[in-house]
Amino acid sequence: MTLNYIFNAYWYKCRFNLIILILLNFINSMIPIVSIYLFQKLISEIMTFIQNPNSARALMVIFSLQIISNIIPFVFNHLLNINNQIIENKISLETTSLILKKVKNLDYLNFESPSFYDSFQRVSSNTNNIVESVNHLILLISHIISAISVLAYLLTINWIIVFIIALGVIPYTLMSIKFNEKNFNLINRLMPITRKEQYFVNLLINRGTLKEIMLFNAFDFLKSKWKKEFLVLSEKKLNFIKNKSKMLFSTELIILLTFSLAGLVIISDFKNSNMAADLVAAIQSIQLFQTSLNNIAKSYSDFKGTLIFIEDYMNFIRINNLANSRELTKIEKLYSLEIRNLYFKYPNNHLETLKGISFKINNGKKIAIVGDNGSGKTTLIKCITGLYLNENLPIFINGIPIKDIDIESLRERMSVLFQDFISYELTVRENIGISRIGDMDDNTKLQNVAKKVNLLEVINGLNNQFDSLLGRYFEGGNELSGGQWQKIALGRALFRESDLIILDEPTAALDPISEKEILEEILNECEKSIIIVTHRLGIASLADEILVMKNGQVVERGTHDELLSINGEYKKMYDSQAHWYSFQRGVLR
Ligand code: ADP
Repeated sequence: MTLNYIFNAYWYKCRFNLIILILLNFINSMIPIVSIYLFQKLISEIMTFIQNPNSARALMVIFSLQIISNIIPFVFNHLLNINNQIIENKISLETTSLILKKVKNLDYLNFESPSFYDSFQRVSSNTNNIVESVNHLILLISHIISAISVLAYLLTINWIIVFIIALGVIPYTLMSIKFNEKNFNLINRLMPITRKEQYFVNLLINRGTLKEIMLFNAFDFLKSKWKKEFLVLSEKKLNFIKNKSKMLFSTELIILLTFSLAGLVIISDFKNSNMAADLVAAIQSIQLFQTSLNNIAKSYSDFKGTLIFIEDYMNFIRINNLANSRELTKIEKLYSLEIRNLYFKYPNNHLETLKGISFKINNGKKIAIVGDNGSGKTTLIKCITGLYLNENLPIFINGIPIKDIDIESLRERMSVLFQDFISYELTVRENIGISRIGDMDDNTKLQNVAKKVNLLEVINGLNNQFDSLLGRYFEGGNELSGGQWQKIALGRALFRESDLIILDEPTAALDPISEKEILEEILNECEKSIIIVTHRLGIASLADEILVMKNGQVVERGTHDELLSINGEYKKMYDSQAHWYSFQRGVLR
């Protein structure tokens, strides 16, 4: 199965390079035995030449062949290097693309679990194993060819030598395989620490995080945390290498001993012979045979080692994703979205985060969701946008259960902006247009949106207007203020041609005037359905229906005036905010 997968990957992506790889390695594997043969011939020709200086021609021919046999591996190794890089480029592109394709199709719920990140990181940082595995396999075959060619010669001298040497290599092979498995297990076990160590490094080198760390003088504190993880990792890795060396040392010693023993046997075989060339060739052959067996053992255990990583990779690629065999309904237009008694629990939580939520949105209705921190507002948004694809979620799109909906087509009809939106280090055009890529070059549409979010003036003031680079990560970028970035993100949400806009705290970074102007325009003028999560009751009051959430439940619902008259949670929130904003007339109604 695994081999089949690897073979297919090579066959479809780089069969020409695979053939070159096999061919060059095959020729390379024959070179040592040819060299030994030529060396043996060379010695006898030298002997003849000493006795008869006129017979130089044969000597010169053998000598030239010897030189050629030395040059071939040298040239081939360079060609192999280039060929290997080409293969690595093609296969890495394929494996990494497959991982990314997998990420695109995965249930987002996976990304809420630390163990998923462990496996994800392990897989994504070991993509070179497919290339490695084929290299080891081909080397293994070359070494086997090399060993067989020399074996045929050695068997004509003494089969006991073959037996002794073969026996000596077995412990090494077994031990290497064992340590390759241990290596995989170690990487597995250390992954949470590795991720932690990388997390601290990222905190300490990232522009976004460094600002706060420096101002709180927290650099050394975090550095010491990084160092602690780093030292744990270093120690575990060192112990592993020490153990491995200790165990492999003794098995390599066995190889050395069996080699010496085989040497003694061969010397005793030749003790009555005066054929120096044959003796030298025999000793070289023993050495070659032993090296070949050694290499076979090493390639085999390395090959087995890479297979473990490839199986891991394949398991990851095979994780169930949202694609299923059922016929899925494509959504051309989103008329209604309904939730009926929704319960939801995160994989690592004991308690349910959402408990029995129901509501329906259609025909350009505007719903505001308000509630304390942690009451479940964002979780609810993640559920209704199809990020969590639990088959049983009671969400209905145009009356059809979400499990029967083609999610990509559903997402086409939605425009969602979370509070932790992305500030892309790209141009203004791309930052806004990424939500509707086909219209990214339409300046009129971009300008309309920029006007709605009060950004047109700022954009016109930039060197290249819509083609100005934003951010500070790349040379020539223009940094924006937090509020301006938020306006860009809002523009992105509005630019999308959707039927439902979902905004999760979309104006936290805006000044009150901009907030009022932009949201009034969106909520009053926009014909699309809108769900808006907000803390600001002034904004909520513009909605047709307000849902008040508390501890994962909708505890109150109605219009602004209805909710005020109930004199419950909403009224409490209203009173506290009225007190807070009382001097900002016009922002809070
Ligand atoms: P809100 O948006 O109303 O502030 P959230 O929906 O973000 O609230 O969170 C609701 C509850 O769910 C919180 O108690 C939070 O701890 C929990 N929660 C949020 N995200 C996760 C997650 N990825 N895994 C586990 N629990 C989570």
